[in-house]
Amino acid sequence: MLLARPRAAGQRPSGRAAPARRDAGARLARRTEACLLRPRWDAALVRVAYERIAERPDLLRRARELASRTIIVDVEPLVAYWDTGQEALDAGIAEILGEIGGDSHMSVVCFATNSDRRPSADYGTSGPGGPRVVYLASAHKPFWTAPYRDFPRPGVVIGDQVATDGILARRLGYTFLHYSPDLTHAPAGPRLMYDLGRRIEPLLFRHR
Ligand SMILES: [Mg+2]
Repeated sequence: MLLARPRAAGQRPSGRAAPARRDAGARLARRTEACLLRPRWDAALVRVAYERIAERPDLLRRARELASRTIIVDVEPLVAYWDTGQEALDAGIAEILGEIGGDSHMSVVCFATNSDRRPSADYGTSGPGGPRVVYLASAHKPFWTAPYRDFPRPGVVIGDQVATDGILARRLGYTFLHYSPDLTHAPAGPRLMYDLGRRIEPLLFRHR
């Protein structure tokens, strides 16, 4: 009886295995690119619009000028700074909703954060006469897009990070309003993410 010789450690079972792994790697790369960079659903633009805005009041003004029906608002630091507590979060949300309240054109205001902090109020139902308010904690930006699927267009994403908020905007086919405050005193994590975003931003967006 002939027995197959045991393979040495790390030895390929045959010469055909390596191309199979290369194919699998290429497929994974294509799927990752499709997941992160391509617009979803009926987004027609190859590159969505991008505007960098440093002053907070100008963000909502610009969203109105674009006749946005949906606004997705990143929470930190636009609504509340990273290391603030419940009171600051509640006050920040109330302030933004107060600024938006009179805009009858706007249908959905969605606060989205990758952190697990939540406001005291229970959002998620439509208010009388105002926009529908949605709050998403642990939003897994930019990977999860299903929560935004039914929001009306056109829409904008307002946030400080290209790698999360910006890519989410691109996947949804929304305009990205890049909030660019002074991050000198921001925690190290957001500053590192900001530097990463500066490198990939030219690949993702067209500038108005
Ligand atoms: Mg942020």
